[in-house]
Amino acid sequence: MGKINCEIHGENVIALISEYHHERMGIGKKCKLSEVKTIIVDDKEGLFNGHYQVDPYLIREIGIQNSRIDVQSDFKKYELMFNKLSPVCPMCLKEYLSKI
Ligand SMILES: [Zn+2]
Repeated sequence: MGKINCEIHGENVIALISEYHHERMGIGKKCKLSEVKTIIVDDKEGLFNGHYQVDPYLIREIGIQNSRIDVQSDFKKYELMFNKLSPVCPMCLKEYLSKI
C-alpha cells in the first residue's frame, strides 16, 4: 500500500476507489447511495482479499456478479477491476461518502 499526500489531510495510506467516484470527488460532486457498490474480493490463498468501493457502471462493464470476485475462478475480473481503481486520500473519501 502506498501513501498519498493530501493538501487538506496530510499524509495517509491510500484508499482505492473506482474512476467514476474519483472523478466526482475531484470536482466536488456528490453521488447517490445507489452508485456506491462494495465488491468483496475472495482469495483462498489470502493474497488479494479485500473490499473495494466501485460504481454500478463498472460492475456492469466487467460483469461482476453478487458483489463478489473469486480470485481463483475469476482472476481476470479482479485484474480488470483493479486496473480501474484510482488512489485517493482516505479522509477525503470518507467525507465524500458521508455526504450521500
Ligand atoms: Zn484528504
